[in-house]
Amino acid sequence: MDILEVKDLTVSIQGKVILKNLSFTLKKGESHILFGPNGSGKTTLIGALLGLPSYEITSGKIFFMGQDITAKSTDERAKLGIVASFQSPPEIAGVKLADLLKLCLGKKPEDSFSSEEQQLIERFKLTAFLGRDMNVGFSGGERKRSEILQLIFLKGKLLLLDEPDSGVDVESLKLLASELQRYIERTGSAALLITHKGDIMDYIKAKYGCVLLNGNFHCFTDPLRMYEDIKNYGYEECVACRRRNTGGWNFEQRK
Ligand code: ADP
Ligand code: MG
Repeated sequence: MDILEVKDLTVSIQGKVILKNLSFTLKKGESHILFGPNGSGKTTLIGALLGLPSYEITSGKIFFMGQDITAKSTDERAKLGIVASFQSPPEIAGVKLADLLKLCLGKKPEDSFSSEEQQLIERFKLTAFLGRDMNVGFSGGERKRSEILQLIFLKGKLLLLDEPDSGVDVESLKLLASELQRYIERTGSAALLITHKGDIMDYIKAKYGCVLLNGNFHCFTDPLRMYEDIKNYGYEECVACRRRNTGGWNFEQRK
């Protein structure tokens, strides 16, 4: 079953078209990697899928598990199971990590964590942070670990992950990405993951990668191969996809 179906989506910010007639689907248990240069509209896509008000959907439709959610509010979408981790998670002084995690679990502040929940917090190496204010003084890796744990506690069905690997050390990356993969496999949820790096694909088993360029997706293919092409030749060359015409990159000719 399709978790997400995006049909001919056009999104503008303050009258400027950022995404043009974008269409794609994400099936149960599938992860897709989204590459693209800075400013190409990756975060805009996540904002539009979340229904954040600054992203104006001028045409097209978004279906979540078969239901048209194009006109639904961010809150309604979140309740359906569309959750996101942000590129730069904000600091929230006065809100303890423990309380926010309990909120994600649908618990009250006076409730305690179950032993299973405690084990997961421990696996995320966040036990010592429970009494601290959200993200205040957290390192990059600590912020991202806490973000991913929140998504798991929210029992997200569609995970929108905006650069979960940026500013994260190799150990935290392995930890959060392996836990994400485990969650996706266990629950049959789906993930759209934005990255500029390749290491996260060691842990997240993504079916497709694609490049967002000039307002549209290009070339759904093996994300590891795509990443190598982008690294070697850049985004424009990658999406030109000469492979299709020549049956493979002609490395000699390119020199
Ligand atoms: P990416 O995440 O791929 O780096 P973004 O989706 O953040 O790109 O941005 C896409 C384009 O939209 C950029 O040109 C950016 O400057 C512009 N943009 C994003 N947010 C706003 C905003 N709030 N107001 C005006 N322009 C914006
Ligand atoms: Mg971005």
